[in-house]
Amino acid sequence: CGIVGYSGFRQATEVLLEGLRNLEYRGYDSAGISVFEDGVIRTVKSQGRIQKLEEKLAFSPLTGTCGIAHTRWATHGVPSDINAHPHRSDHVSLLHNGIIENYLELKEELIAKGYHFVSQTDTEVAAHLISSLYEGDPLQAISKALARIEGSYAFAILFDDHPDRVYGARKDSPLIAAVGQGENFILSDISATLKYTKDYYVLEDGDIVEISPEAIHIYDSSLSPVSRELSHAHWNV
Ligand code: GLU
Repeated sequence: CGIVGYSGFRQATEVLLEGLRNLEYRGYDSAGISVFEDGVIRTVKSQGRIQKLEEKLAFSPLTGTCGIAHTRWATHGVPSDINAHPHRSDHVSLLHNGIIENYLELKEELIAKGYHFVSQTDTEVAAHLISSLYEGDPLQAISKALARIEGSYAFAILFDDHPDRVYGARKDSPLIAAVGQGENFILSDISATLKYTKDYYVLEDGDIVEISPEAIHIYDSSLSPVSRELSHAHWNV
């Protein structure tokens, strides 16, 4: 339901949680967060309010400047800690808005390849699929996976060996890349991080995006670089 991705110089957990709270009005049943801590992805998630996630994080803080966070509105699989996003596979941590229509077919294929599913969600299929196609280039893996996925999605993805990058992709579900100075964002909605920036690119269906602290790169589904118009939010906070 709500998506916040961050790569920059601030403590990611604070930026991500604040972003989720700003998107809270949209409704959700669980929340979760993944952050690179000393180069390793760590994930904390919880059914229920964002406050429950914060209580878990108070026990087990995540320190780092790159991460992703999600509030889930369950469509496939009950609201639970395990079904909350982000979902984990060998190389990635992934979160998702939308519905993967052909997830049962993909799930069977991935199980046959030896992937082990822990959740009941359609989303976990995307994590394993991208991981199974990963050969060192995140954009290639995402592009190949999207060619197999039917349905609606906005994804935010971390790859284990790219600790200052957040990747995103969208189709029939909103996603934007917001522009900061020394920091950038991938968001379902600009209202998540208006405190930090009001400038953003609206991604189009089929777009794949990569952010780092210094840059935003946007590609179409065949991985040709594309430029999207810069929009500005004329809102006061
Ligand atoms: N279909 C996914 C799930 O049920 C994503 C739901 C959402 O958009 O929050 O986990």
